[in-house]
Order: sequence, then C-alpha cells, then structure tokens
Amino acid sequence: MSKPVQNPKTREWQAMSRDHHLAPFSDFKQLAETGPRIITKADGVYLWDSEGNKILDGMAGLWCVAVGYGRKELADAAFKQMQELPYYNMFFQTATPPPLELAKAIAELAPEGMNHVFFTGSGSEGNDTMLRMVRHYWAIKGQPAKKVIISRVNGYHGSTVAGASLGGMKYMHEQGDLPIPGIVHIPQPYWFGEGGEMTPEAFGIWAAEQLEAKILEVGEANVAAFIAEPIQGAGGVIIPPDSYWPKIREILAKYDILFVADEVICGFGRTGEWFGSDYYGLRPDMMTIAKGLTSGYIPMGGLIVRDEVVEVLNQGGDFNHGFTYSGHPVAAAVALENLRILREEKIVERVKAETAPYLQKRLRELADHPLVGEVRGVGLLGAIELVQNKASRERFPGDVGVGMICRSHCFSNGLIMRAVGDTMIIAPPLVISQAEIDELISKARHCLDLTAQEVLG
Ligand SMILES: *Cc1c(COP(=O)(O)O)cnc(C)c1O
Repeated sequence: MSKPVQNPKTREWQAMSRDHHLAPFSDFKQLAETGPRIITKADGVYLWDSEGNKILDGMAGLWCVAVGYGRKELADAAFKQMQELPYYNMFFQTATPPPLELAKAIAELAPEGMNHVFFTGSGSEGNDTMLRMVRHYWAIKGQPAKKVIISRVNGYHGSTVAGASLGGMKYMHEQGDLPIPGIVHIPQPYWFGEGGEMTPEAFGIWAAEQLEAKILEVGEANVAAFIAEPIQGAGGVIIPPDSYWPKIREILAKYDILFVADEVICGFGRTGEWFGSDYYGLRPDMMTIAKGLTSGYIPMGGLIVRDEVVEVLNQGGDFNHGFTYSGHPVAAAVALENLRILREEKIVERVKAETAPYLQKRLRELADHPLVGEVRGVGLLGAIELVQNKASRERFPGDVGVGMICRSHCFSNGLIMRAVGDTMIIAPPLVISQAEIDELISKARHCLDLTAQEVLG
C-alpha cells in the first residue's frame, strides 16, 4: 500500500531498526519485515518523513505537542539551562531553581487548593508515585487497610508495572501477570460501544453506579482511591455521557476515599480549560500530569497534590520514593517556557473560543459518511466510530481490521489519525489553525472514502 522506498537513507535506518531496535507497543517480527516510517523533521502541525512526504500530525505526536513543532524558545530554554546547570538532583535536602519555579507556575494554573507538585520523568512514573503516596497517606492516618485503588476497564495510566495495572487494558494485563494485587476495575462510560439499548444518560448513571457498587463490595475501609481520566484518551477518546461525572461526584462525596484525575492527556488545555477537571467541575485530590507539560520536547511528568493531603503527608516522616530525574532542571526549564508560551499567547483561550468549536463542528460533518456510526469530541479531542451498520451500531467483523485500513490510508495521504480498534481518533496540536482544521477534515473524508471503497466494495 505504501509507496516503495526511494531514499537510500530510509533503507539504512530501517535496517538499523530491524537489526538493533526493539520498538514500544510493536510486533517486533512484523516491524522487522515492513520497516518503520522514519520521521525526520517537523514544523508547526506538520511532520516530514525521510521520503520527503509532508504529513499533518492529527495526534500531536502522542497527544503531547501542544504548542506545535519547531518552537525555538523551547530549544533555547534547554540550551541555556544545560550550560548553566545541566543536572543536579532534588534528593537529600537540595534543590535547583527551575523545578521550584515550575511547581509555583503549575500551582497557579491548577484548581484551587492544589499547590504542591512531585516531579517524575513520565506519566507512568506519576501514577506509580500516586499509588505509593496514596497508600502512605492512609497509613499515616492510621488506616493502613485502605490500599485498594479502583480504576476503570479500558482506562490508560501508563506502562510501568503500576501504570499498566491501574490501566484497564486487557492486552497489557495478559503480559507480565498484571494487575498487581490491590487494583480493581469497574466498567467504562463508553456508551457507543457498550451502552446496548440504554440511552446515553441512563448508561452514564449505570456506569457511575458501578463505582459505588465496587466501594461497597471491597468495603470502604479497604478502598484508598478512585483514579480516572476525565476523558479516556488511549482507550478511544471516550466522552462520558453528561450524566456520568455529576453522578461520580455524588458518590465520591459519600465515601472517604481519594479521587485521582489522570490529566496526562486532558491537562494543559486539551479541552479548552487548563485541566479536564476544570472542564467537568471535578474536585480531585491528586492530578497526574505529563505530555502537554513540556509539549513533549523533553520528558517530564508529575503529580499535583491537594493541600489537605500534603498536610497529612507532612506528619509521615520520609516519603521513601523518588527518581534520579525527579525535577530535572533542563526538563523543568523547558516546561516553564512551554507554560509561558501557552499563557502569553493565550493558546488555551483560543482553543476554547475558536478552534475547539470549529473542529467539533467540522468533525461532525463526517457523521453522514456511510462508514461512520458516531462522531464525538470535546476541545481538541475527537473520535470517529467506523461501523458496518450505522443504525444498529454494528461493527465490522474483527478480521476486517477497518481501523487499521483507514489508518494506513491516512498515513499514505499525508494525515496521522490513530486507530483504536475501529475507532479513529485525533488530538492535533493546540495551535492548529482553522485552515489546517479544514485540511485535516478533507483528508479524513478522503481517507474514509478510500476505506469504504476497500471494505464495502
Ligand atoms: C500517556 C499516558 C500516561 C503515561 O504517560 P507516559 O509518559 O507514557 O508514561 C498516563 N496516563 C494517561 C492518561 C496517558 O495518556
């Protein structure tokens, strides 16, 4: 399907991949046969591959490149910090200025009462930190039995042992004997896929009530926390029915458990608010962050913690946890510059007022396509469900792989859309313009047409 390779360098890199590299979330053997597409440069919302093809990045890398590619200020911030102080750690009662300044900047943006940040190298490490901190918190309060963390089927919380266990991806649990003990899962609020005959509203209530049922089953005395993404990203951009979060809030208010919002995707403007928790009016005790924090220019994650929780942790002596790169000064300098750009250029405000409404309107025009069963989205997140029968929401048989077919047409036609099963998803850079949204939609429609020709004949 893809064009034959022209550039001899492409072949060289593909040989290096085959001979020496093990790629994340990949079938090693199959990738060795086909060879990866090599991305060599980027600017704004566009990527170029080693064959010279220009591609509109509808996924902002992996949901992270908020300010777009090619922002020289971010490179300058890293260069300057590397010359001044490339590394020192935050262990043993020492600190460096950038992570301290960053913690203050994040506290200014975070919801009221969330004023402290623990830094990590990634979102997964943020959730590992969360698991240990939450259990430590309850132990300090004299309730060490409160250990169980409730999470959701098809949630994504990272790929470390704790992250993958918290996540509800069955195909990840199958490898490595996960989840680890003390993590249980409840159904997800995925009406299109699992709502059956229920209305979205009724299904949202039902899905939320599963939290209460699980708290009662495990016993409130044993439950430490509930973790959820405000909008599930990797699970397929699952926008919960409007009834879901209000009902969850009601349940959380009844029980003495912590609520953790995994804001790794929703955080830093993706929904048009600074955090997904702001969008849905949630009151988290902790928020996991990463991705948009640095626009992906350098790895960094963290955990934002509510004041009341910090007060308890302050009574607990040493927290025996941390990473060599917790609060890395170069990463923090890049994050600070990234937040400066997001604020001063009013990028989040523009998403809310202009680009999100425009993208959502244009995206919904695709709902009339014969392959499309539903289009949904919030902010600069979108999903397109591919189905065999629009009215009954009936999917294609699994062996058709319609999502993968559509994804390859996108790749070959200058657009990156990701496929989660038969759900096509987008999360473009927050700086995407209206003209670039038009291009995204017209390419998406063209690729849906090519996919329809292939699967419907
Ligand atoms: C990507 C992601 C993570 C994991 O972050 P990494 O930096 O890949 O470890 C955790 N939670 C959510 C919601 C994510 O999308």
